[in-house]
Amino acid sequence: MKRALSGQSDKKPGALVRGLRGLAILSLWQAAACGGQPDQPSVLLVIIDTLRADKLGTYGEQQGLTPYIDAFAEQGVVFENASSHAPWTLPATASLLTSLYPLQHGAGGFLPNFTALDPQVRTLASVFRERGYVTGAIVNVAFLDRTFGLTREFEHLDAQHFESNLKVRSAQDTTDAALAWLAERGDEPFFLLVHYFDTHAVYDPPQPFRRRFAAAQDRESGDHIFGTREQMIRLRAGQLEINRHIIKRAEKLYDGEVAYTDGQVGRLFDGLSELGLAGDTLQVLTSDHGEEFWDHGGFEHGHTLYSELTHIPLIMRFDGRLEPGRVSAGVGHVDVGPTLCELTDIAAPEQFTGHSLVPLVRAAGVGAVEHRSVLAHGNFWGPPLSSWREGADKLILSAPGGTGAHESSGAPELTGTPGAAQLFSWLEDRREQRDRAPAEAGRVEELTDNLRAAELLLQRQYSAPGARVELSDAEREVLRGLGYVGDDGAGGEAGD
Ligand SMILES: [Zn+2]
Repeated sequence: MKRALSGQSDKKPGALVRGLRGLAILSLWQAAACGGQPDQPSVLLVIIDTLRADKLGTYGEQQGLTPYIDAFAEQGVVFENASSHAPWTLPATASLLTSLYPLQHGAGGFLPNFTALDPQVRTLASVFRERGYVTGAIVNVAFLDRTFGLTREFEHLDAQHFESNLKVRSAQDTTDAALAWLAERGDEPFFLLVHYFDTHAVYDPPQPFRRRFAAAQDRESGDHIFGTREQMIRLRAGQLEINRHIIKRAEKLYDGEVAYTDGQVGRLFDGLSELGLAGDTLQVLTSDHGEEFWDHGGFEHGHTLYSELTHIPLIMRFDGRLEPGRVSAGVGHVDVGPTLCELTDIAAPEQFTGHSLVPLVRAAGVGAVEHRSVLAHGNFWGPPLSSWREGADKLILSAPGGTGAHESSGAPELTGTPGAAQLFSWLEDRREQRDRAPAEAGRVEELTDNLRAAELLLQRQYSAPGARVELSDAEREVLRGLGYVGDDGAGGEAGD
């Protein structure tokens, strides 16, 4: 089983948190008395792996999968059109933590040649540590372990990953670990990263979420799951039938995982309040990338730059300091770092490429929307794809001579021609189903020029080569178990 616990609908914090609440308040008082930094706000950054934005009620989903996150969003700022810069964990999370684009920070590569975050790149953890913050990361996938560099600057790292994607630390246990860390930390302000992995394949929601959201035939029995390593290898090898019906059935299991994780994230935020920390903590929720459910004839992630993979939730709550509201401007993950710096009154390092979102929050609802151009790169499975969002348009370029994203993902319907461009109106056609490139060659050419110019500019501004990852036998075994490295060392399952 993916997790031992089930039926975790109770989102009330445990006795540990309740018992330590008084202690935490006392600790804050002691910090003030001892000349600490009681006025310096803390930061809680929550990443829900593989969570596509449109599964949240606050982003339009009608099933009621995310009541706790929706309530959180009501009290915060919702960035309606936020984008990841890559379709899989390593490069995407690196952009979030470094405010650099994938072509700048060096973390990523493609299967089986991974590159770690370049040693000279700074992450948010070092920025906060320099200001006296205690820093902690609770993560659940190998790509966020120290090997790949993203969490190397956190003082406390609690990384758990297993040799099979059937096993993962559950959202309940992740929340417990986060609340325990919060209760036991010192007096300093903190920067805590909490990463949930339940929404990533394998989809196997616990009860009562399976009963509520799975397809009728899957509600009582836990036999049907989706996304085991064996399944994926056989699917991609064409040995198993794959079609819309199969993927839509799997999507309902994913919905159950989303609902389950939502309750645990709610419990984390409630626990923060019970510890007396919510008022002084900037709380941010996002995901690294989304997930495909036959939107473009494929499944999982890592293989395209369409909106089901790049449109991610981004919500910030900071009681008394961020007016609740919604920002419709297009923004990107690289903007998160500078925003956290501005809201905690810390100068952003020169390395940071993004721009603070605070001016957009202040301008929300008053005047024209300022969309920021967003660049994305990546294809876990092979030759790179790149995309450029400018104004209401989004251009996707396939690498000349490449094999095409969908071909390598195992999906039978090719929607992109290698070496070709696709053009979408991401505001009017959110699901990016109507390719306007054939009819608008001039606009494609213009956006292609702008994309290439942006790439050059960004690389001139900051560029790190990344560090080739030499995996130990044990690490290779873990990644093989998760499906990231095939038995022959050159193929596998999912780009996380
Ligand atoms: Zn991921």
